[in-house]
Amino acid sequence: MKLADVALPVPVPRAFTYEVPSALEGVAPGARVVCPFGARAITGVVLAVREGEPPEKVRPIAKVLPISLPADLTSFLVELSQYYFAPIGEVFRLAMPPLDRETAESTIRAKSDTLGLFGDEEAKGLSAKKIQWAEPTAGTEEPSKLSAQARAVLAHLRAHGGYPVARLVEKWGNARAAIEKLSELGLVRVTTRDKEPDPFFDTTVPRDVPPVLNPAQEEATRAICAAVTAGDPRTFLLHGVTGSGKTEVYMRAIDAAKARGVGVIVLVPEISLTPQLVSRYRARFGDGVCVLHSALTARERYTMWSRLRAGEVDVAIGARSALFAPVKDLGLIVVDEEHDSSFKQEEGVRYHARDMAILRAFRRGGVCVLGSATPSLETVHLARTGKADKLVLAARARAQEMPAVEIVDMRRTGAGPTGDKKLTIPLHRAIEKTLEKKEQIILFLNRRGFSPSVRCHACGELVVCPNCSVALTFHKGRSRVVRCHYCDHEEPLLERCAKCKAPALELEGLGTEKLEETLAAAFPEAKVARLDRDVASGKAIERVIERVRSREVDVLVGTQMVTKGHDLPFVTLVGVINADAALSIPDFRAAERAFQLLVQVAGRAGRGDAPGRVVVQTYDPSHHALVFALQHDTEGFVERELRDRRELGYPPYSRMALVRIDAVDEEVAKGAAESVAATVRRATRGEVDVLGPAPAPIARVRGRFRFRVMLRAPDRKKLRPGLVAAAHVLEALPRNVRGVLDVDPVQLL
Ligand SMILES: [Zn+2]
Ligand SMILES: [Zn+2]
Repeated sequence: MKLADVALPVPVPRAFTYEVPSALEGVAPGARVVCPFGARAITGVVLAVREGEPPEKVRPIAKVLPISLPADLTSFLVELSQYYFAPIGEVFRLAMPPLDRETAESTIRAKSDTLGLFGDEEAKGLSAKKIQWAEPTAGTEEPSKLSAQARAVLAHLRAHGGYPVARLVEKWGNARAAIEKLSELGLVRVTTRDKEPDPFFDTTVPRDVPPVLNPAQEEATRAICAAVTAGDPRTFLLHGVTGSGKTEVYMRAIDAAKARGVGVIVLVPEISLTPQLVSRYRARFGDGVCVLHSALTARERYTMWSRLRAGEVDVAIGARSALFAPVKDLGLIVVDEEHDSSFKQEEGVRYHARDMAILRAFRRGGVCVLGSATPSLETVHLARTGKADKLVLAARARAQEMPAVEIVDMRRTGAGPTGDKKLTIPLHRAIEKTLEKKEQIILFLNRRGFSPSVRCHACGELVVCPNCSVALTFHKGRSRVVRCHYCDHEEPLLERCAKCKAPALELEGLGTEKLEETLAAAFPEAKVARLDRDVASGKAIERVIERVRSREVDVLVGTQMVTKGHDLPFVTLVGVINADAALSIPDFRAAERAFQLLVQVAGRAGRGDAPGRVVVQTYDPSHHALVFALQHDTEGFVERELRDRRELGYPPYSRMALVRIDAVDEEVAKGAAESVAATVRRATRGEVDVLGPAPAPIARVRGRFRFRVMLRAPDRKKLRPGLVAAAHVLEALPRNVRGVLDVDPVQLL
């Protein structure tokens, strides 16, 4: 009997076997199929087709959907699943187009028992939104007898490469007549296509003119384009300081890919924070890129998915999940800001999009470009061991100087006029001076809220979350509440201590909300805005940034959000309120992250014509992460940090995995973690270091106690038996215990 192994999006770590009915004989790996599953129908992907003895009660595949996954994507997903010990169905779910669930359910609702190809039903459901699209033909001539309006429409179409007719009518009332005339003359072609679903499209970006490359850009471009053109599966580290013009190099590489007719994926960190970056690709490639982001509806994403699959669009841009875009004939993957921790998925399938981008490109014979101003030590290590070619863009593309960085030792420096120790005299004066010059300021503080904690000064009791072992943060706003940043628990701030009843609760520490208030009071003339997760998400972030860009705001106060690649030419002062917060995290990568953060935040200063200045406040001015950041010395930092890692046996000199266990009952969680540790120790007989179990640094979250067991070995091959053993124990955990295996963990908290 002909059988198919199918990955179904259910959390079971294996594929399911189905019968291939004779009517569907042509089904091949990668095909999307609707399969009966219990009383339901689910869409899955065929992994393999074979002849064999059918297992008991085997059921037939119900339908084959018209568009399959590309073969290279199918095999890549299988490999990813094996690498991370992740359930195969969950992994395929990452790559399947949305609507598949709907499709499967409607199949069952319709009780259509006719086997056979799904036909155009699927497409029919999507055809609701068609639009007319006008695009210029190849010609460049312009007959003299055209009306002014027709001429304007033609110029607009040539500038944008194409435009929805309805929008042209919005701009020019008589656009339809003009288009008809242009169409008669063979200058414009009108087609019907799916409604442009992309909200990024609304910001009508004028097409740009590629700038002349500087010598460093030219050299990097030459190396990458040669590999793209030759189909040489190489990995490049493009190390360029902030403002050195990496994006231009990526765009030239995309040109080379387009010229060769291969597809491209561009991964960017947290796309909602970087609309400006994305619009640069739009400006260059117009409609030839498709931007995948969370604001799209399932239907819109489906449309993009099928266009990419068909090769109608050959460049996909998006956050980490764009790694799974079904790009046709993939030949290039760019990972921009490759050091960014948002490339690691921290729930479900815990994959790292940067690591997997290298793998996916390599398997396809494609090129992978990892770009950063502050490369991760993993990527630096790849370059040093010959697994990646390093290219350097040393200077800023437009000849600004790197900003001058000053360190303020908070142990020796008093509070400025506000009386707040977190706003020292040097920083206060620097703000004053910058405001006098009518330039802009960014102040970076790692903590949102008003005060990070509330403590009773009579008995010392800290106000903590009832569900988590963390302090509650005071948010002033209108509501005067304390809130947990882990589980979002919220309660009113009481007048008296819950323990000793004394009216002695005091606010401790400084959050972005309080900093905003302090500044507004100290500089009443200045317009202060705040950017953090409490005030902005999605489009709202863009609006805040836009207000800064249009100089409606003088001082922007914010968390990490302000460090992302925004290009704000009138910002000349960047202040880091407390550099120590990032250094005190109990994680071997704390110094690396602090260094990256400082360099990125400093990179926001002086991007226009005026020189930039950075003031960093700290209690630990001799910390090597600060000292090297002060000198913009990435090489020096990398050298020092790699030496430490090698001595301590941390990645990139070893491979790690983290087993995370949690349960409502502390003893149950601890017991399960102990059994994981014991089993792995027994199975690996000293080949794998097993550390723990130990309580997680935040021991309780959302009412569940958390324990961890760390596995470590010199390389992946030696680690593998440990992973196999751990995966076995995790599969057999009792129902009241949750356990996950995190291979190559990034977040140790
Ligand atoms: Zn008290
Ligand atoms: Zn909580």
